[in-house]
Amino acid sequence: MPIRQLAPDVAAKIAAGEVVERPASVVKELIENSIDAGATQIRVDLMNGGLQLIRVTDNGCGISPEELPLALERHATSKVASIDDLEQIRSLGFRGEALASIAAVAEVTLVSRARGSEQGSQVNAQSGHISDVTPAASPEGTTITVRNLFSAVPARLKFLKSRNTEISHCHHLLEQYALAYPEIRFTVASEGKQIFSTPGDGKLFSVLVQVYGLQIAEQMVEVDGDDEHDASDGEYPIVKGFVSRPACYKSTRQHISFFVNRRWVMSRMLTTAVEGAYHSLLLSGRHPLAVINIQIDPSFLDVNVHPAKTEIRFLKERRVFAAILRAARKALLQEPEMPQWKSKS
Ligand code: ADP
Ligand code: MG
Repeated sequence: MPIRQLAPDVAAKIAAGEVVERPASVVKELIENSIDAGATQIRVDLMNGGLQLIRVTDNGCGISPEELPLALERHATSKVASIDDLEQIRSLGFRGEALASIAAVAEVTLVSRARGSEQGSQVNAQSGHISDVTPAASPEGTTITVRNLFSAVPARLKFLKSRNTEISHCHHLLEQYALAYPEIRFTVASEGKQIFSTPGDGKLFSVLVQVYGLQIAEQMVEVDGDDEHDASDGEYPIVKGFVSRPACYKSTRQHISFFVNRRWVMSRMLTTAVEGAYHSLLLSGRHPLAVINIQIDPSFLDVNVHPAKTEIRFLKERRVFAAILRAARKALLQEPEMPQWKSKS
């Protein structure tokens, strides 16, 4: 075949594949936007595992009518202006391509009312075409509805698993964000039935109870590792969270969650550090539950590794590793309830 420039809608659909892999990736991008908008309440509705409908409603800062169409444009963002801003990134979004990507592979309706403004407005996007902005009734905040995801991308549709699998991916993701943001009230419904919610009272323990149940939550001990170094020195990570007592374990590593500057990340290195703290306390094949929040100066981080933003790089990886190991170990050893130690004291 000769080399040809792809038609813009084809190019957009191909590029969207990097950001939007399945319904849970749409949910992720939408709730990250709600969090960046300062929402304290986020509601997620799913129909048919998100393929028929994903709706995210927040009470965040909203979007003005003039900016509504821009929000759907590729590389349009209110969060980054120059390449230097990437060094100090504090928001979850920064690439300005999530909404554009979603609009390339689904029908999107964006309804929003900016905080303090009298009137809401609405814009629709379908196959890359953005409609005119019209007035619409809306509470303060934003509601984004994504319909018929991938219906125009049969190649992607083919790879999706069952409806229940897609729901459980969305559910797991929302649990992770709820753990990272205990001050936000999350409500999640599938086919109109509530499947998960958190009180939004700011307590990580309350979210642990919702995610793992009271019995397991009570088996978790608090990690508070900020006393080793001067916390004002951002070079040293501050490590906080919860880890399970050795008597409480799982057969997979799925219940170990990491948040770096409140971004949910996956990392082999971080997992190894936490598990290292259980050295000689857990038999092999047994894995702890953990929720670890790492706070670090953003200039010691690269979050721009992959469009999905769940991978990061640390400038001083060994320091982070050591901080986690130490903080988790300290929590486990200080825990008076641990049966192995009780008999000795
Ligand atoms: P990014 O988050 O990387 O900036 P997005 O495509 O996800 O890119 O969103 C584009 C822009 O639309 C954001 O920068 C923000 O200004 C606006 N926006 C998107 N969702 C919301 C929301 N829920 N509340 C307020 N503004 C939003
Ligand atoms: Mg975003």
